[in-house]
Amino acid sequence: MHISTESESELRGYDAIVIGTGFAGSVIARELAERARMRVALVESRDHIGGNSYDALDEHGVLVHMYGPHIFHTANERVFGYLSRFTEWRAYEHRVLARLDEGTFIPVPFNKTSIEISFGKERGAELIGKLIEAYGDERKVPIAQLRQTDDPDIAELADFVYDNVFRHYSAKQWGTDPATLDTSITSRVPVFISRDDRYFQDPFQGMPAQGYTRLFESLLDCEGLDLFLGLDARSFLGFAGDGERLRQATVNGEPYGGIIVFTGSVDELFGFRFGRLPYRSLDFEFETLPMKRFQPCATVNYTVSEDFTRITEFSHLTGQELEVTTIMREYPCAYEGKPGQIPCYVVPGEENARRYGQYAELAASISRFHLLGRLAEYRYYNMDAVVARALELADELCEQA
Ligand code: FAD
Ligand code: UDP
Repeated sequence: MHISTESESELRGYDAIVIGTGFAGSVIARELAERARMRVALVESRDHIGGNSYDALDEHGVLVHMYGPHIFHTANERVFGYLSRFTEWRAYEHRVLARLDEGTFIPVPFNKTSIEISFGKERGAELIGKLIEAYGDERKVPIAQLRQTDDPDIAELADFVYDNVFRHYSAKQWGTDPATLDTSITSRVPVFISRDDRYFQDPFQGMPAQGYTRLFESLLDCEGLDLFLGLDARSFLGFAGDGERLRQATVNGEPYGGIIVFTGSVDELFGFRFGRLPYRSLDFEFETLPMKRFQPCATVNYTVSEDFTRITEFSHLTGQELEVTTIMREYPCAYEGKPGQIPCYVVPGEENARRYGQYAELAASISRFHLLGRLAEYRYYNMDAVVARALELADELCEQA
């Protein structure tokens, strides 16, 4: 990886300009440089690579995820194989508990064990029987679907799960009445009629053995790829055209004929001309404690109390064994574009999809300009989905090259 000290005025000399060093930007930049032998400028407004997957040692030597806990999991063999070129993996399967009160913790996704803890063995067995009869064994049922039941026993269970797992957590996370949320959001964590207490069931799960930042360093170590850190694309990128159709990207005011891949927030890039797209942000509170372990698993969700949503203890993810441990509390808030604030989550929903569509149409009118990734495509993507999208776009662009 070559960190460029050239001024941004040199950018027009590159075959491609990629904006953002998260998984979207980093993978497409590498592919264009390696496969299509393009000279690629990779531009990042922050002072580090990796986007929201960035990790670093804190002052106590604990490897922490600076923008919230990131657990890699995928069913996509191509994605797993691709990333395995740049990292070895630490075997890790994520488990999450919801804290109902000081002494009561239940597995999330809510499963057979959660039922027994909440309802006792005997009533639990009845409810599990009912669920199996209605939906089948080893099945996942989104809470929204479960709540539509006509069966009074299942309805009692659904109300319990909604009240104790979803209502408060979702209200905190999304800042809205959870009843108004798009059901795709809570469907990510369905009720699971199973003893499997893993958060994910994907065949490939793990953590990059040396951390995400090391993975990104290896990914970006490629001839033809130059990195510009601390540079906001809005300072050089413009568009020429006639209002609703822009046609041509400009770099420092001059027409640019190369490829541009943008992975940031599209409403911000286009000056909010169709209005703001909403995002949720997070305030992260780190605390280092003088003990080896603070909690029994990596993440404990606070589903009925507190203003924060969850506490993550990083040593469970990384396997570090130190005399101290660092934990992180996540406090959700609206993204208002304040300096230093990060857009963490897009907000799925019909109205937002419609507004995004206007931005996407505008972007499509610009020659050789592509939107890629969680923010730019306004999709609640996990890391693996972003890598998959980047590889698909790379296939397309390399074929044309
Ligand atoms: P990002 O990582 O957001 O990267 C975008 C980059 O573009 C940023 O570095 C940004 O600074 C840069 N940028 C934006 N605008 C500009 C500009 N104008 N000029 C220059 N640079 C710009 N996924 C999982 O698979 N597993 C998990 O456990 C998981 N946990 C998560 C936990 C949290 C709290 C969050 C917020 C997300 C989590 N994700 C997880 C999702 C994961 O973070 C995303 O899928 C992934 O980071 C998306 O990559 P990206 O490249 O699209 O975007
Ligand atoms: N959710 C919840 N309670 C939980 C876990 C999840 O209400 O204990 C809901 C909440 O709305 C959350 C969504 O399910 O935003 C998706 O959860 P996930 O763990 O996938 O969120 P992420 O890890 O992306 O923050």
